[in-house]
Amino acid sequence: MSKHNTGLMPGELKTQPAPFQDRYKILHKLFDQLTRCRLKADTSRLKRMAIELELRVAKVSTSPQSYRFHMSILLRDLVKEKANFKKIKIAGKQIMSNTKTSSNSLINTKTRDKDYVMQKLTDMLIDPKILEKHKYIMSRIIPDDYTASSDYANCERCNTKFKKSKIMLDTLCTYHPQKKIYNKESKTHMFPCCGESTTSTSFMRLGCKKAEHHVFKNDSYPELREISDFLKTSVIDGKENVLALDCEMAFTSKGFEMVRLTIVDFFTCKVLFDEIVEPFGDIIDLNTLFSGIHSEDMEQAIPYLDIMDRILTTDLINRNSILIGHGLENDLNVMRIIHERIIDTAILFSVGKYKTSLKNLTFETLSEKIQTGEHDSSQDAIATMNVIKKKIGVPIEQVKWD
Ligand SMILES: [Zn+2]
Ligand SMILES: [Zn+2]
Repeated sequence: MSKHNTGLMPGELKTQPAPFQDRYKILHKLFDQLTRCRLKADTSRLKRMAIELELRVAKVSTSPQSYRFHMSILLRDLVKEKANFKKIKIAGKQIMSNTKTSSNSLINTKTRDKDYVMQKLTDMLIDPKILEKHKYIMSRIIPDDYTASSDYANCERCNTKFKKSKIMLDTLCTYHPQKKIYNKESKTHMFPCCGESTTSTSFMRLGCKKAEHHVFKNDSYPELREISDFLKTSVIDGKENVLALDCEMAFTSKGFEMVRLTIVDFFTCKVLFDEIVEPFGDIIDLNTLFSGIHSEDMEQAIPYLDIMDRILTTDLINRNSILIGHGLENDLNVMRIIHERIIDTAILFSVGKYKTSLKNLTFETLSEKIQTGEHDSSQDAIATMNVIKKKIGVPIEQVKWD
């Protein structure tokens, strides 16, 4: 196996024509073959070609035999036709038609111009009223019926009620790091972190993990503004740009706060901003498993207000920016900004009541695995951006625009 093909996985299918192991092996063979035929293409493009071709063969195959048959013809033709897709067929059908090219295809090499992309992105902007329903803070209005926030909070992990001013005093919080899931067969709830069921009589039922402090989150505007008030981007003039955002967050003595912010440019794929942020409160838990932030990273942290000075500018986030993210309300609420031009992949591509995870969406759309270990906000921002590119038919590797 070559060193370049890590992370190369067959695309997901409801019915498998052949065992996953076989598909995996063949996919890697296909990638090696493409690498030999198309020396000039870069590795990530070749990977996507291999995944797409394998998936097409898998889709037209009804049995392991037909899968192997179609695949052997494809591998033979790739060599014979020097990977010229216009001359290669899968199950009698041309891969790439001469007359019309499918805009969804990964094999499609057609580059797009900026106007086309801006139009598509503008069409995807979500109505502010819908944003509000998804817990985006859209105005700095405190409801009339709001009474000053309570001195108490319920722990996000163990649900114990505690006094917020005493949060830094040692206590015992027993909890499960993962949410319970329902098992249809046994008709019970269980915790995937430790396998304990909610009906168990063991003490483990209460939690498999212990911490010295409780933690809490706020999500209403009046509570969030207690740490720092929201800033409206509408007061910042600037050029129209398209930015993908992702934050990592941690539990602090003041609630749930931003500890890292990454901003990636949609057109150049460049990481424009990536810094560790110093929160207002004392850190209780960096959620390292999810945030990827370690305590030694905090030594280089920049205070929140300095971060805002650097990102709310005519060149970066301003009133004309289109901001892309997955469940972006969480990010904007810890950043404390109010913005109207939003593309949220969690709102756009979720089916049903529950929002899809970025991990699943990325796998379904791009056949790429992310968040296999600690999360990384730059990886997440890029994945979200690439999902959008795939959905609107823009080549992911295109960085030159007219
Ligand atoms: Zn557990
Ligand atoms: Zn607790």
